[in-house]
Amino acid sequence: MIVAMKEGTSRSEAEQFAETLKKEGVAVHFSEGASRIVLGLVGDTSAVNGENLKAHHLVEKVIRVQEPYKRANRLFHPADTSVEIRTAGGTARIGGGTLGIIAGPCSVESREQIVDVARAVKKAGAAFLRGGAFKPRTSPYSFQGLGCGGLDLLLEVKKETGLPVVTELMGIHQLELFADVDVIQVGARNMQNFTLLRELGRCGKPVLLKRGLASTLTELLMAAEYIMAGGNDRIILCERGIRSFDNYTRNVLDISAIPALKRQSHLPVIVDPSHATGLSWMVPAMAKAAVAAGADGIIVEVHNNPEAALCDGEQSLTPGAFSLLMDALRKYADIEGKRVS
Ligand code: PEP
Ligand code: MN
Repeated sequence: MIVAMKEGTSRSEAEQFAETLKKEGVAVHFSEGASRIVLGLVGDTSAVNGENLKAHHLVEKVIRVQEPYKRANRLFHPADTSVEIRTAGGTARIGGGTLGIIAGPCSVESREQIVDVARAVKKAGAAFLRGGAFKPRTSPYSFQGLGCGGLDLLLEVKKETGLPVVTELMGIHQLELFADVDVIQVGARNMQNFTLLRELGRCGKPVLLKRGLASTLTELLMAAEYIMAGGNDRIILCERGIRSFDNYTRNVLDISAIPALKRQSHLPVIVDPSHATGLSWMVPAMAKAAVAAGADGIIVEVHNNPEAALCDGEQSLTPGAFSLLMDALRKYADIEGKRVS
């Protein structure tokens, strides 16, 4: 249930009012917009009498929320949320009018590789560096990532370039290793690992949450809700392609997920054209389509030598191709009235 307070209601008046609601056994979350305070009532709201609430002199509107996600719901937070990360040189942003570009290799392979790629993507204008240290591979015999050594290399490169780091966490036991990571990625295969999601709700770090291989948009939003229920609302949703009958591309990029998610939720939505298509030549077209459809950013794989990559070389852009894509995305961002982070 959402209770929109009248314009001019002060925080302390709203807090007093919230105390009376809590007596009905519900939790109350605050969202302070530019013009009014919105209260989100979560839990069993069946005992709360909506008509009585409407009659209160401080209440503008009472809405019963049909969707199972509450804190992620746009009704609770009408304005776009942007996720901000403080960096050595300022602030890197995704959402709220800023197109956040995350680029880097699928996996960290060596110092030389990650340094090379990080410098190149920074020069081209990326705001974040991606790179997997712990890799969720389909085969246990494939390269599994450099593990802790890979994390150390990422953090070393972060120091040199100032680029905040986005990397995947595969299990709760790794959380303490991620203290200096800027954005924790939850991979498609872990989207419904509810124990992990709950823990990330308490970790105080931004989370990049990828859509599961065969997950509905509601399931993705409920996964975000798990994290938000713990008090962490710095979440970036990521459409990365879903399973379908056609295998021309690695997955099928659901472009319609972008306007749908943005209609239902205030959270920023980014697109991964690399895992969505599996084909480097198709990545620029899909990245541009994503921005044209309203995405708040892109996460894209870039490798300094795709042919020799230990993982996902076929879908990785060369630094040169990435730089050309950045030039195009600046124009697309401009049309959408956004700036590139
Ligand atoms: C990745 O980004 O490295 C990755 C494994 O992606 P996904 O979880 O979307 O497959
Ligand atoms: Mn990959």
